[in-house]
Amino acid sequence: MTSSAPAPAKIGDFIRDIINADLEAGRHDKVLTRFPPEPNGFLHIGHAKSICLNFGLALEYKDRLPGSGTRCHLRFDDTDPTKEDTLFEDGIQEDVRWLGFQWDGLYHASDYFGKMYEYAEHLIQSGKAYVCSLSDAEIKEYRGSVTTPGKPSPYRERSVEENLDLFRRMRKGEFKDGEHVVRGKIDMANANMKMRDPLLYRIRHTAHHMTGEQWCIYPMYDYAHPISDAIEGITHSICTLEFENNRELYDWVIDNLIEYAKFPSRPHQYEFARLNLNYTVMSKRRLQELVEGKHVSGWDDPRLPTIAGLRRRGYTPESIRAFCASVGVAKANSTVDMAQLEFCIRDDLNQKAPRVMAVLKPLKVVIENYPDDKVEELDASYWPHDVPKEGSRKVPFSKEIYIEQDDFMLDPPKDYYRLAPGKEVRLRYAYCLTCTDVIKDASGNVVEVRGTYDPQTLGKNPEGRKVKGTIHWVSAPHAVKAEVRLYDRLLSEEAPPTGKDSEFLNAINPNALQVLAECALERSLGDAQPGERFQFERQGYFVVDGKDSQPGALVFNRIVTLKDSWARSQQK
Ligand code: ATP
Ligand code: MG
Repeated sequence: MTSSAPAPAKIGDFIRDIINADLEAGRHDKVLTRFPPEPNGFLHIGHAKSICLNFGLALEYKDRLPGSGTRCHLRFDDTDPTKEDTLFEDGIQEDVRWLGFQWDGLYHASDYFGKMYEYAEHLIQSGKAYVCSLSDAEIKEYRGSVTTPGKPSPYRERSVEENLDLFRRMRKGEFKDGEHVVRGKIDMANANMKMRDPLLYRIRHTAHHMTGEQWCIYPMYDYAHPISDAIEGITHSICTLEFENNRELYDWVIDNLIEYAKFPSRPHQYEFARLNLNYTVMSKRRLQELVEGKHVSGWDDPRLPTIAGLRRRGYTPESIRAFCASVGVAKANSTVDMAQLEFCIRDDLNQKAPRVMAVLKPLKVVIENYPDDKVEELDASYWPHDVPKEGSRKVPFSKEIYIEQDDFMLDPPKDYYRLAPGKEVRLRYAYCLTCTDVIKDASGNVVEVRGTYDPQTLGKNPEGRKVKGTIHWVSAPHAVKAEVRLYDRLLSEEAPPTGKDSEFLNAINPNALQVLAECALERSLGDAQPGERFQFERQGYFVVDGKDSQPGALVFNRIVTLKDSWARSQQK
């Protein structure tokens, strides 16, 4: 696996080709799209792809067709009251806004329950739908298989009068859950199993978060979705590939209602490939399993690919939009390498995150020839030469400093350019330091390093000696103590098992979260605010955690390392 730069955003794609052709042929004079999440969980980065596509199209065509009425709706697909909740609706709205989009109208499928009911009566009256009283298991059995045709329900030939009477009584609440359903009367031998008399309505004696106790029958997705689209005047109804077989049913619903209902548009469904990422799970059901099983701390756990998790992890909306653009819109399913997402956040933060020094695993160094009480305020730029920004801060330098434990070795190999007994290293923005001695604990671990500095080396090389390595450091008496959380892949397997539902839990990476409780940050970070992002030199990009960080008890999350260390470790 390699971490390569993502391909540049595609200007055109097959969806845009279709829209352009529709506009040229005069089939539409505006573009209406919608993003239709089910409010049964939080959004993930796969949804971001759909959001960028639907809202992005509306923005583009508003520009191209000013005054045309081009829009993108946010519509909650709330047809299953057993799973849905207002809490999720709030989270979804926050996520869409955070990604940088604003809807032109907020709707619910439940806004149309009255119309949907009326249209179902119309279908029954025109002999296109009937009330079926088979059990769920029988319906399944009668449906047949891909290789064998289904057989008709014994209730298929009920009279219109009987069907209407039963349907009205279903609505009144005279029957229990599962006693009857309404089905489209289509074709039990159809090669497309979705067309074998699909369910349109079912009984659910469950209160709904929007309509309360008003209904005890609820429409199925395949019936509710085309009607919602058509009522809103959606022109291009874009969904993911697994709905390809549902398209015929989508068209059947529209075709059989359009004359009666006088819809403002004849929407068409188009399918594109869903986004899959390696080393993680993307379906809401699985994410919910992780949250409810307390495998993670919540929907916004920074290990999760949820928008809330990525936001807390420190991803920017710009980086996620750039990622979605780099993935493009295609017809064939594929899995995108996590490294591509990480490339996008590095690319964005390189220009945005000031560089500072933080020691994550501190090792104390006492500089023996530095005056006891002296403190020097050294200039340190926030930006490297290749970022066209200005700004600097003072970093205090004193007799006792911290360096990374990893930057010291007692017995180093030949090509080790960091600190070791008798070796000299450059301290970033400061002097060259030579290790003269070490102090060990009872078990032989180095707990302190002793050294001397060369006062002639502030900002310049020592005469006649080559100092190859430069390491970061923090003045010990001025250090800001903080907790730093390092993250790794959520799963240790690239493609988690898809078979049995909970099997993927075995693939959870136990090292996906590593907490370093005793980090030493440079003084300037003392008043870092939640959500602020920095590059800790040589360590990666970090953000102040928005939830757990407190003044005086800072918590940082590592957003991403500086290099693709994961890909390199996989190559070993
Ligand atoms: P999940 O299977 O993850 O629960 P879903 O499809 O059930 O997702 P919905 O809330 O119904 O979630 O989806 C809202 C919209 O987002 C749909 O149009 C759906 O096609 C799209 N979508 C969902 N997952 C992805 C994905 N991985 N890539 C692209 N679009 C997606
Ligand atoms: Mg769904």
